[in-house]
Amino acid sequence: MARYVYAFTEGGREMADLLGGKGANLAEMVRMGLPVPPGFTVTTEACRAYLESGEPPQELGQQVAQHLRALERAVGRELGQVDDPLLLSVRSGARFSMPGMMDTILDIGLNDYSVLGLAKGPGRERFAWDSYRRLVQMFGSTVMGVDAGLFEQALAAIKKQHRAADDTELDTCDLIRLVETCKDIIAEATGEEFPQEPAEQLERAVLAVFESWNTERARLYRRREHIPDDLGTAVTIQTMVFGNSGSDSGSGVAFTRDPATGSRGVYGDYLPNAQGEDVVAGIRNAVPLQELERLDPRSFAELRDHMHRLEAHYRDLCDIEFTVERGRLWMLQTRVGKRTAQAAFSIAGQLAAEGLISQDQALARVDGNALAQLMFPRFDTSADNEVIAHGIAASPGAAVGAVVFDSAEAVRRAAAGESVVLVRQETTPDDLPGMVAARAVLTSRGGKTSHAAVVARGMGKVCVCGADDITVDPHERRFTTQGMTVPEGTVISVDGSSGVVYRGAATLIDSDIMRYFDTGGQPPVAQGGQIVADVHQMMQQADAVRRLEVRANADTPEDAARARRFGAQGIGLCRTEHMFLGDRRALVEAMILAHTDAERATALQALLPLQRQDFAGILQAMDGLPVTIRLLDPPLHEFLPDRTELAVRLAQDSALGRTPDPRDAELLAAVNRTHEENPMLGLRGVRLGLVVPGLVAMQVRAIAEAVAQRREAGGDPQAEIMVPLVDAVEELHLVRQEVDRVLAEVAQETGVRIDCPVGTMIELPRAALTAGKIAKDAQFFSFGTNDLTQTTWGFSRDDVEAAFFSAYLDKGIFQVSPFETIDREGVGRLVNIAVEEGRAARPGLKIGVCGEHGGDPVSVHFFHDAGLDYVSCSPFRIPVARLEAGRAALQEHTGSDST
Ligand code: PEP
Ligand code: MG
Repeated sequence: MARYVYAFTEGGREMADLLGGKGANLAEMVRMGLPVPPGFTVTTEACRAYLESGEPPQELGQQVAQHLRALERAVGRELGQVDDPLLLSVRSGARFSMPGMMDTILDIGLNDYSVLGLAKGPGRERFAWDSYRRLVQMFGSTVMGVDAGLFEQALAAIKKQHRAADDTELDTCDLIRLVETCKDIIAEATGEEFPQEPAEQLERAVLAVFESWNTERARLYRRREHIPDDLGTAVTIQTMVFGNSGSDSGSGVAFTRDPATGSRGVYGDYLPNAQGEDVVAGIRNAVPLQELERLDPRSFAELRDHMHRLEAHYRDLCDIEFTVERGRLWMLQTRVGKRTAQAAFSIAGQLAAEGLISQDQALARVDGNALAQLMFPRFDTSADNEVIAHGIAASPGAAVGAVVFDSAEAVRRAAAGESVVLVRQETTPDDLPGMVAARAVLTSRGGKTSHAAVVARGMGKVCVCGADDITVDPHERRFTTQGMTVPEGTVISVDGSSGVVYRGAATLIDSDIMRYFDTGGQPPVAQGGQIVADVHQMMQQADAVRRLEVRANADTPEDAARARRFGAQGIGLCRTEHMFLGDRRALVEAMILAHTDAERATALQALLPLQRQDFAGILQAMDGLPVTIRLLDPPLHEFLPDRTELAVRLAQDSALGRTPDPRDAELLAAVNRTHEENPMLGLRGVRLGLVVPGLVAMQVRAIAEAVAQRREAGGDPQAEIMVPLVDAVEELHLVRQEVDRVLAEVAQETGVRIDCPVGTMIELPRAALTAGKIAKDAQFFSFGTNDLTQTTWGFSRDDVEAAFFSAYLDKGIFQVSPFETIDREGVGRLVNIAVEEGRAARPGLKIGVCGEHGGDPVSVHFFHDAGLDYVSCSPFRIPVARLEAGRAALQEHTGSDST
């Protein structure tokens, strides 16, 4: 019989796929002997079955009932019993943490009778009715679908009557009234009474949690975090403990290290006399966790002890949810905590230094996305920027944007290309679309563990929270701070690393990490501090273990020099078309307009010295390292003026009776002659070289002469010649004849040995499928995955992303654009075939990739797995590619990157 339910005593952290992160880690804490309220977990498999068929698996009800009975026996209390009833929490918990995105229902088991049982005992009445109020409210909104705002309004109305600032000021009578009002709201909205039967409450709560996997916000979060849509959530069902039992109780969140910076210490928030949800929702301002030492030294000491044990056990930063119930500490959740990019490097470095993990494991704990974040600019604190507020530095980085006060406005303005800062009193899961759209999030309430802080950190988004100088007025669409009013649309700057908010656009300067790379990767510890040392250590480790080389896509000496400082081991793609622009466009026009071979030869002759000079500069900057120079690729009309502009100019001339410039007419004729409906599939790449006489010869001569020049100057030029867009070996064969002829000619003329390997790009499916033949004429391959993606999917790379990719992402056709991350299944298959057949035909064939995917963290792992020799990417992505190449090599050995 399929098994859908596991007691906490039956699992462990290794079962996260089945029990979700929460269920698996609760089981692990039980295994470690930590105080966990007993319970059991319904598996993700049950959820998947439910989502697929719309029905829970047949055995589920019975298995839940069995585990419930065992639980009741273990705690000596029953669900729904009138005296001291057992109450349960029902929580979501997927394989990957999705903070606040799915549903939770607390206090299951309360009804009109058991609430009286719960209320027995001195001082328990208020607590019992508060718990019942929470259940009716949560059940009403999450299970029965009633608008949560209606309950909030009822609560606000009673608070207003009593002039109560927060809900702890309401007394038992108020809460009893509130329960009745909430029940009426439910009856009115649904035509159904709030269910009094505890078993029914439990069953419906479990199904509601299953369904919350597919809410709009959960889907959006998954898309953003690249979490697959088909995993489903587990549901943990756990004995309730009550942080709202009085002043000797409370709930909190703790981190074993600072999740923003990685520093050691006690971090977190504590909210006396409250349940866990209140802390995360930022409903009341929590106190720093250290306060617990004063309020309840015994629980604090015990918590610190558990924190140390957890960190040593998981060998990582753990975040913890806990509750103190009348002086007794309970652990409600732990997980390896989300952290900022800086903290990721710092924690991995510290744990390795402490000997808790190896250097390799430390490398596995960081990633290219975190490194890229550290390379972003930061605000110049020495500049004269006007500070308008201070808050908690919850998620680092520097962001400038216009203030907006709700999610919809953030989305609207961001879609129109504006950068925005979402300003809220506190955020809720419903603000997620706005948080995604905004550059930064600023809240006036809540601590480091508030919803805004946790979610922003997870997304790598700048966040300052708890900025209590600010009073947010979303209705008037403004906030006030220090006597100043800041209306919607005002530009502000948010520094998530210091918690400071500036008016206007503050001055940005390079990050320390960017400076570290740009000065050649030596640690200027005095300047950049520990983070530079941590990054340096990780880069050294990555370089030591990686097999993939990293080259740059660069076509100027300056870019080449920068790439080299960033650690490039050569140039994998020098696009020569970029050298045909600007002033030189006239020379290219002359070549295109030439009527005779002689005219064309003259035009090419004029381009030759310029090209030679370009190549010599790049070869000098990359002296001793390979420089792959690609022959001209784009269609020729890209070098001509715009067709419409020319036509309009000529029409105006004719309308005004002016004599048109004969060159305009000539150009228009050329534009019309070279016009193509699908230029990307037209006369470009190797096809150009085959039909425009003298073009290949000119470029090859420029390369060869630059090589000779550099060699004569005592340099070590390592040029490689690359032919683009080859479909068939015959094309390459013909071009090679010309290339070889010119190389030999220049060698003879200069008396210098010129050995430039000649290779080809593999960027069309036909080339990949006939790679065995092509390899006979190619001394190396370089995958042009931009074109290969375009032609494999049949997606015009210039059009589709704007036209319909967001719809495709919404519909789950893919989770990330195939132009961003390599499509392993389709394009990747072609890559694998070409590697295998290419190397079979020419053993040891050097193979790289120079499409944009070469600098994408996920794709780098694929290229490692595919056995490529190098990846080539834009200079700024080189550090990321180096790091990921190291991580990919580790993964090959350990089979996992979560070591
Ligand atoms: C490619 O197609 O991947 C490539 C590198 O060439 P380009 O982007 O210049 O077409
Ligand atoms: Mg290409």
